Amino acid sequence: MLPSIIDVARENQLTFNERSLNKKEVMCKCPFCLADANNPKKFYLSLNPDKNVFKCWYCKEYGGVLQFESLVTGNSYEEVRLKYFGDIKKKYHPAELLSPKQLKAINWDEIKRKHNDEYKRSLENVFADWKAHVHSQRILAFAKLLIGIESKKYQLICENIKKQALDSQVPNLLEDVLEMYSSSEWKSWALEAREIAVSALLIARKENNELANALVYVVFAFSQYNQKNKNDNRRVG
Ligand SMILES: [Zn+2]
Repeated sequence: MLPSIIDVARENQLTFNERSLNKKEVMCKCPFCLADANNPKKFYLSLNPDKNVFKCWYCKEYGGVLQFESLVTGNSYEEVRLKYFGDIKKKYHPAELLSPKQLKAINWDEIKRKHNDEYKRSLENVFADWKAHVHSQRILAFAKLLIGIESKKYQLICENIKKQALDSQVPNLLEDVLEMYSSSEWKSWALEAREIAVSALLIARKENNELANALVYVVFAFSQYNQKNKNDNRRVG
């Protein structure tokens, strides 16, 4: 059902090292970092047709064939998955639609790789962890947004939240918090974020570089918030 990573590379016009074509590791020019672009002898991207995975020895980008196609075509991971598996939303558990990088963000990637049976039994937990992750990332992003607006550094804070979306692998993070900000009724996560932002601003206001300091306090307050939640969950569970 899955395409071969070599075919995906060909369809997307990657440049092969012809001499590596029959080897275990097929080498290409890396389309992600382009670090080998100006040196005809260097090919940093390694494709492994047996395992159907890729890795760049220079920029360390790596993953499976779906992730690869998603990166080289610019289509989302889910679009690529749907291309090969059809409309699988009904048949598959939502946790199975998470990408390898999203699983890594919630520390399930290794368990999936090394203990797949345990992973398959744990899909409910995986998805619960993912929802908790999205929830807490939204709180952090929303607190940042409020501080950015208050400090009149809107553009700067939007860039910061876009980077957070990449790091945390939560798609549409900026869009979601902007939509919440302009909605007439803030959900509980927005209200929690406001509390964090208000206390961060109160502390930062006493100092000079208000925005930078407020952001530091937000990240600090957020880590405390996360810690407290983890402890509460442990007590309940
Ligand atoms: Zn690279």
